[in-house]
Amino acid sequence: MLNKMMVAPGKQANLSRRKPDETFGWEKSDAKQELGKLITRLSELQNRLAAESKQSLLVVLQAMDAAGKDGVVRSIFTGVNPAGVSVTSFKAPSSEELAHDYLWRVHAAMPHRGQIGIFNRSHYEDVLVVRVHGYVPEERWRKRFRHIREFERMATEEGTKIVKIHLQISLEAQRRREQDRIDTIEKRWKFNKQDLVDRALWPKFMEAYEDVFSETGTRDAPWYIVPSDRNWVRNLAVAQILVHALDAMDPRIPPGQPDIEGIVVV
Ligand code: ATP
Ligand code: MG
Repeated sequence: MLNKMMVAPGKQANLSRRKPDETFGWEKSDAKQELGKLITRLSELQNRLAAESKQSLLVVLQAMDAAGKDGVVRSIFTGVNPAGVSVTSFKAPSSEELAHDYLWRVHAAMPHRGQIGIFNRSHYEDVLVVRVHGYVPEERWRKRFRHIREFERMATEEGTKIVKIHLQISLEAQRRREQDRIDTIEKRWKFNKQDLVDRALWPKFMEAYEDVFSETGTRDAPWYIVPSDRNWVRNLAVAQILVHALDAMDPRIPPGQPDIEGIVVV
């Protein structure tokens, strides 16, 4: 499952050949049980990561609207100690953010040692929405692939493991979810008319995403494409990716001060 979702470094993801309603042979009830186990593992690993305080994990979530970025954060991080997690949602940049280079706000939001950082949208918006809407000319956004590779390499070498996840939904699933956001009063706050503008630009976004995957996927900071039409597949897949990444980081609980053995607290 992990191998199927990972985009080989430097290769195209071929989004149109992937199925957003893929189940990888899982049944919903089994997947839910497995997710429970993975969430327990995640919590143990996070505890070790925090105790060690040497490395950090950055999880980048990028997707079209209504693919379930918030749902992932809610479902997967239940059970994880909130003190060890930071979630940053990147919106359209403020005037102060626009007065700096586009990585300024990103660098400031990187998780500190021992922490898991989640980016709900990210610096990739600066080569996605910015490109599709033409906010900066091509000669500027094209150079950003290199900046991003170099920025991520620096962060990796300094102790941050980076995992990048694209939640892939179909046009039809997005239609259903956006309609539901309009029709259900309690969900209406999530709907933004601007989302329909981006929906109409779907093919342009897919083109931009393909370039992101082939230009910025590396061995150290790979991209995974997670089929997200079914929430339970999406949750299982993301949990697997995170447990796999943390397992490979192998955080160790420090031994504590020397000569503690035998001390009796009175
Ligand atoms: P949901 O998927 O649940 O709708 P969301 O991530 O879309 O959540 P919103 O507050 O609806 O959250 O939208 C954030 C908006 O900010 C998006 O339209 C995104 O394209 C935009 N945005 C983020 N980063 C940038 C950027 N660097 N430049 C321009 N727009 C950006
Ligand atoms: Mg939105």
